[in-house]
Amino acid sequence: MSKTSLTFYSGLRTIGGTIIALQHEDTRVIFDFGLTYNPAANIFDGQVKARKSAMARDYLKLGLIPEVDGLYRREDLPENSSVLPAQEYAGETAVLISHLHLDHMGAMGFIDPSVPVYMTAESLHLYQALETIGEGVQGSRSYRRCEYGKPFSVGKISVTPLRLDHDIIGACAFHIKTPDGALLYTGDLRMHGENPQYVDSFIEEAKKLGFDAVIMEGTTLRNEEELPDSLLVPERSMPDDSLTESDLPAKMAEILDATSRIGLFNIYHRNIDRINGILKTGRETGRKVVLEAATAEIAKRLAGNQDFFIYESEEIRQAQASGTLPDWQKSLLLEYPVVSFQDINENPGSFFIQNSYDQSLELFDLNTDGGVYLHANGVPLGSFDPAYENLQRILDAIGLEYIETGTGGHAIPQHLKYIVDELDPAFLIPLHSFHPERLHPKSGHQLLPVCGKRYILSNGMVTEEISSPQRILL
Ligand SMILES: [Zn+2]
Ligand SMILES: [Zn+2]
Repeated sequence: MSKTSLTFYSGLRTIGGTIIALQHEDTRVIFDFGLTYNPAANIFDGQVKARKSAMARDYLKLGLIPEVDGLYRREDLPENSSVLPAQEYAGETAVLISHLHLDHMGAMGFIDPSVPVYMTAESLHLYQALETIGEGVQGSRSYRRCEYGKPFSVGKISVTPLRLDHDIIGACAFHIKTPDGALLYTGDLRMHGENPQYVDSFIEEAKKLGFDAVIMEGTTLRNEEELPDSLLVPERSMPDDSLTESDLPAKMAEILDATSRIGLFNIYHRNIDRINGILKTGRETGRKVVLEAATAEIAKRLAGNQDFFIYESEEIRQAQASGTLPDWQKSLLLEYPVVSFQDINENPGSFFIQNSYDQSLELFDLNTDGGVYLHANGVPLGSFDPAYENLQRILDAIGLEYIETGTGGHAIPQHLKYIVDELDPAFLIPLHSFHPERLHPKSGHQLLPVCGKRYILSNGMVTEEISSPQRILL
């Protein structure tokens, strides 16, 4: 009799870092391979230097990536490690990446090049831009593309990527089927994005394909005090007082129209919908949108509207003077109009300018009197990040008004419950959450797995593997 097992390595009660293996006979798929997001406890605090040639080994030692047989290069494993390197592993493995947030892909460069790593064509397109601007992951290896709705095989396992909406381009869920059963892994998703219809189609497609279990993110879940049961009810629509991705351009335009002075924004540039929204805001307010070079490179490749300027930062001036400007920046500066802080200071009110946290000191060259700084989900994301206070100190030094104008990437609790109820799985496995236990299925069982334990998928059931003699005797 064939047998399919599930092993959860990490990311159950944290935000991201979800790593799960589904094994059928000698074939397995491992889905997502990122790093847990926790800026307050980050070992690499900006002072401790990563050792490039020993990074995988160091990450293993720190427990930032799991000890899994058959994934890593032999030279990356510590001496006398009990973990089998990829070269010595007899089975077949493929890794699936649901989307390109660091908590889902940050460690994929550590995977031995002989193990295929799949992502959607849109994700791969974004990844190529990230590599160009120096935001690729450690390690050089290639990645394979997959298409929404098109199944592909890994041994007897069939994988179908299903398109979703999240605050990044290319996000998908995976429907994974073996001869013993099927499951659905949602990755991250939201219903208040630019394309909620993707989530509706995902529900429909997933139901057509059929599944025994759903592994679902629950980022926005809180304890009962912060999130009373009365708010954890299924609801398809958006509460009146909250913002959707599509609401943002008008909201930003309203703030910018209230001042005749400079407008600044801080975004996370993997969110292409947000870049498009910023460009729309520029059009609506008659302001010129100025992007940092790295974001401009992404916008060049993926944004719909190309009506933007490049900000000539101190870094660009230095690189030009020393002849060290990278080729991609040289091309950008030739293809798009460039503005300096002097140009901006002639008429600050006619601009809407990007300023990322690492570029904060550029603010000191700009005439920011009476201006506004729109924080739109860029880094630092919130007060849980020590960098947040630092940003406030910098803004205080120039007296710049800080306004939060963003919306998150994760489904609000009512939407999570709506999606779960629509899917109505026999087994619901909530994770990627501080409070996964708050999400209950409509009629099935809730399973809160334990890291490192194996679960068996068979006859439509997911059960803990009882393999040790003690358990059998009991
Ligand atoms: Zn995530
Ligand atoms: Zn995400």
